Amino acid sequence: MTELRWGIQGTVLKNVPMKRYTSMKVGGPVQYLVYPLDEGDLLHVLKVLKEDGIKYRFVGNGTNIIVNDNGLNEAVIRITKIRHLKYRKTRDGASVEVSGGTSLKRFIKDHAQRGFSGLERLFWIPGTIGGAIKMNAGSFGSSITDVLENIRVLDARGDITTFARKDMSFGHRTSPIKASECVLSAQFYLKERDKKEITEEMKYVYGERKRRHPMELPSSGSIFKGVNGEPSWKFIEKAGLKGFRIGDACISEKHANFIVNLGAATAKDIKMLIEKIKKEVFEKEGVSLKEEVELWGFNG
Ligand SMILES: Cc1cc2nc3c(=O)[nH]c(=O)nc-3n(C[C@H](O)[C@H](O)[C@H](O)COP(=O)(O)OP(=O)(O)OC[C@H]3O[C@@H](n4cnc5c(N)ncnc54)[C@H](O)[C@@H]3O)c2cc1C
Repeated sequence: MTELRWGIQGTVLKNVPMKRYTSMKVGGPVQYLVYPLDEGDLLHVLKVLKEDGIKYRFVGNGTNIIVNDNGLNEAVIRITKIRHLKYRKTRDGASVEVSGGTSLKRFIKDHAQRGFSGLERLFWIPGTIGGAIKMNAGSFGSSITDVLENIRVLDARGDITTFARKDMSFGHRTSPIKASECVLSAQFYLKERDKKEITEEMKYVYGERKRRHPMELPSSGSIFKGVNGEPSWKFIEKAGLKGFRIGDACISEKHANFIVNLGAATAKDIKMLIEKIKKEVFEKEGVSLKEEVELWGFNG
């Protein structure tokens, strides 16, 4: 294999196990893990990959993906080193532009400290801004797109387009953003609110998460989407599957829609457990569960 001439300021890691970059702590190596340092670097990376015919994907904090144990013969691009955050005061709050690789948690803490409100109900979702928009992440009745103004998207041709939220259709944990597209940055409108009130709400959300979710063990959050407004954990619990395990992949006793890694789980164990849950829930309750989590590299 010939050595690629990256010619970028950022970093290129080779043969990196994805278990280090996913919250489930499973997954084999990818050919390249690339960290562009700025948008110019990112454009250059896409050009190099295209010229060499190498497939690529974008990853944020890896909190909604499960990568196959054999890994992927592809490049994975992380834009977490491209950072910008710009506040513009409005009549009753702020319009804020933030880079796509920014941690959602850090962003929420930052604007809370400035007395701006809008995303506190999403506090402690462990993803990045880009990953959260792609997944239309949400919790406690709010979703990231509720206060979104627009996003800047880089497409596979290397073109950058700004899309207004009102012209985009987001669904339950779905978005129109394609796998080949990168959310470079997003603009949110936030309202002024008493800092104490914001902090109280964030504390409440964090407390509820700790109470309801198995935060002490590696996981990918909810495995399945809700069904007709009903949370999936209800069906899994009713099917008597809490605590069921394959290898070290286990259906959490605390929250039946979480699969936790008890230590040495493999992606194969997790995939088998997902199939088992789908089969049992369908047979016992006639309900078809659909994955919220993305499974990478399992085809064939
Ligand atoms: C303990 C725990 C709790 C969770 N709680 C919630 C919750 O309450 N609500 C909820 O909705 N989710 C929850 N999640 C799931 C997950 O955190 C969210 O889906 C999150 O938004 C994913 O962000 P990420 O950066 O980790 O994305 P990744 O997992 O890295 O990627 C997810 C998808 O986004 C794409 N992507 C990533 N970055 C970009 C980008 N810049 N541009 C374009 N596409 C991109 C990836 O290609 C992939 O398709 C939880 C997960 C865990 C582990």
